[in-house]
Amino acid sequence: MLKRFFSFLLNLLYPPRCMVCREIIPINKKGYLCAKCGGEGAFTPITGKTCAKCSLPLNTAAYLCSNCNRKTHSLESNYALFLYEGRERELILNLKYHFGPSMMKFIKQILKENINKERFAEADYIIAVPMYKRKEKERGYNQAHLLAGALSEITGIPVLTDVLLRQKDTAAQSKLNYYARQKNVSGVFSLGNNKNAILSKAILLVDDIYTTGSTMNECSVALLSGGAKIVNGFTFCVAANQKTDSDSL
Ligand SMILES: [Zn+2]
Ligand SMILES: [Zn+2]
Repeated sequence: MLKRFFSFLLNLLYPPRCMVCREIIPINKKGYLCAKCGGEGAFTPITGKTCAKCSLPLNTAAYLCSNCNRKTHSLESNYALFLYEGRERELILNLKYHFGPSMMKFIKQILKENINKERFAEADYIIAVPMYKRKEKERGYNQAHLLAGALSEITGIPVLTDVLLRQKDTAAQSKLNYYARQKNVSGVFSLGNNKNAILSKAILLVDDIYTTGSTMNECSVALLSGGAKIVNGFTFCVAANQKTDSDSL
């Protein structure tokens, strides 16, 4: 009784807000989304024919999208769940810049409902795209690491830490074009104390968003040079427009 009273009081003081638009959710309504953002098909994963590298939907017979076609790839493939637009974009921006850990119950639920676990059958370990240490300290968390942890709980694939390190702060990239981004992340990643764990292993590299693929590719270069057998990616979203408001490259 007392517990219910306190939770009622807490709800009055800090009413739950929609994970997408931050509207207050009425006290008699359960769930993580307001009436406007929730409901049938609120989060629709990418389906149908997709680019073999980045997961963008393809409506031609091509194997790769035009963006991937003109690049060299170290990353074997990237499995993205959603397009970076609408609700998914708002959700990721909230996760990334504001509410991180407090959103993970909901994010885990979305992952659970939408991922195809068979896509991870090959993976020995999950590794999150690292943030620059000082930046992670300022933010208090690394959203890629939060996603990696959630994915690990769902799939049973262990997360490896202290393998991949980010040597340089590469913030404020969202205004750069593909070539500038690629140059900017070149040589940014190095290997940490736990690097021997990846020898001959299949790695699943996790990030929140795949934009140009430059970050994922640079991470993959570092992991393969450290002896990993193969590196595939998983991102919550893939951006159709390579010039986005995200600082993920
Ligand atoms: Zn909402
Ligand atoms: Zn592509």
